[in-house]
Amino acid sequence: MKIAVIGSTHAGTAAVTNMAKLYPEADITVYERNDNVSFLSCGLALYVGGVVNDPQGLFYSSPQELQNLGVTMKMQHDVEHIDTVRRTIEATNLVTGKKIHDTYDKLIMTTGSWPVTPPIEGIGLDNILLAKNYHQANTIIERAKDAQKVTVVGAGYIGVEIVEAFEKAGKDVTLIDGAGRILNKYLDEEFTTMVENDFKARGIELAMNETVQHFEGTNGSVSTVTTNSGTYETDLVILCVGFRPNTDLLKGKVDMLDNGAIKVNEYMQTSDPEIFAAGDCCAVPYNPTGGHMYIPLATNAVRMGTLAARNLIEPTMKHVGTQGTSGLHIFDLNMASTGLTETSAQLLGIHVKNITIEDTHRPAFMPTAEKVMLKVTINPDSRRILGAQVISKADVTQSINTMSVCIQTGMTIDELAYTDFFFQPHFNQPWNFLNKAGLEAQSQESQRLPELV
Ligand SMILES: Cc1cc2nc3c(=O)[nH]c(=O)nc-3n(C[C@H](O)[C@H](O)[C@H](O)COP(=O)(O)OP(=O)(O)OC[C@H]3O[C@@H](n4cnc5c(N)ncnc54)[C@H](O)[C@@H]3O)c2cc1C
Repeated sequence: MKIAVIGSTHAGTAAVTNMAKLYPEADITVYERNDNVSFLSCGLALYVGGVVNDPQGLFYSSPQELQNLGVTMKMQHDVEHIDTVRRTIEATNLVTGKKIHDTYDKLIMTTGSWPVTPPIEGIGLDNILLAKNYHQANTIIERAKDAQKVTVVGAGYIGVEIVEAFEKAGKDVTLIDGAGRILNKYLDEEFTTMVENDFKARGIELAMNETVQHFEGTNGSVSTVTTNSGTYETDLVILCVGFRPNTDLLKGKVDMLDNGAIKVNEYMQTSDPEIFAAGDCCAVPYNPTGGHMYIPLATNAVRMGTLAARNLIEPTMKHVGTQGTSGLHIFDLNMASTGLTETSAQLLGIHVKNITIEDTHRPAFMPTAEKVMLKVTINPDSRRILGAQVISKADVTQSINTMSVCIQTGMTIDELAYTDFFFQPHFNQPWNFLNKAGLEAQSQESQRLPELV
């Protein structure tokens, strides 16, 4: 059996390491246009900010390691064409320029995503950089040495992490986003206001509700960013305005969402039975709505890559779906979210009810007890939990992993009220704040019910 894998960061590396063990007789070839595998982009801001000093720690595998598993590694090979009828691949060796042709019995598409670069006037100027792979991280570090004014465009979690890194490095940082507030896809306003206030107190300039109109340069390098509301002087711009799935190779050949994300079944198989796909190039089944969503996360990529390997020959293990669970540590605040927020539910036209709890993470008699805010989003009819968000100076983010399980298993808010969680004064309270959200929901419900006679 000839297996071809295109792309080897998280989804591809997970698929390859599993397949090498599961199918030792198979002839596995990896095509990767980059010169490395398995770069942990999640460490990019930490690397740029100097928290991670040894970049080797940002890789958990290497072409050599995969080759030692018996896999043929075609590094710096760009796949340019796939004939899904004849099952052939055409690729170019980016070092020699030589074209090669190959065949496959099974194809694993793990081509991931690429940062969106909007067609803004002046976007081609020097020092307007993207933040995705290892080489881009090194370019950012290099260019930042001579930059004092840094502009980050896009206030999603990557933009916000980069803002933190540059503020800590003593730069003058401006954060621009067309939306009215930062992190609007992950957290509701009462949470993001806390982070925004913290940013402002640190001197970070927030330019929300502003859309970039054009960049201008001096000697070919960016010097100003103009939005619909103002002009900002800058030495360096980092663009973090989202990701687009890299799926042009299969356009019109397998089913996709409108944004080009490949649709896979619960076994990671595309609409072409010989082609499996995993990671950022795919849509994922999203449990809170039961539909497909585009949620490019490393967590989804490693799970899907592993499942693609396990299900390649026969359907073995189903994908349980995702809640898009994510966490962030920005300056002194820890935050995490899973499933729907009030904002995302509104955008999707889903009627929800929200329960907010404010508590301290452990008893007041302890030397320190940090405030915690938790918001749980439920279906008001079935009372099933659809989402949750938490923020605190204490690290209580693991509670959101618990809430992710609650959503996945279809738990109701009433069941959460009485779920067994441990208590120990170092960590939490006798009634865990997750229980308290359930109790609060019940209390609100009983106030709504007509009095019993
Ligand atoms: C700055 C940053 C921070 C992040 N932080 C987090 C985090 O904290 N937690 C989290 O869960 N996720 C995080 N993510 C998201 C995570 O990095 C991605 O979800 C993950 O990289 C997806 O892995 P993937 O293998 O599907 O795709 P990708 O990482 O996009 O890799 C695809 C690979 O395919 C190769 N390729 C593409 N097309 C071709 C072709 N035609 N021929 C040959 N090779 C090709 C590419 O070179 C690449 O190596 C972060 C992302 C960024 C950019």
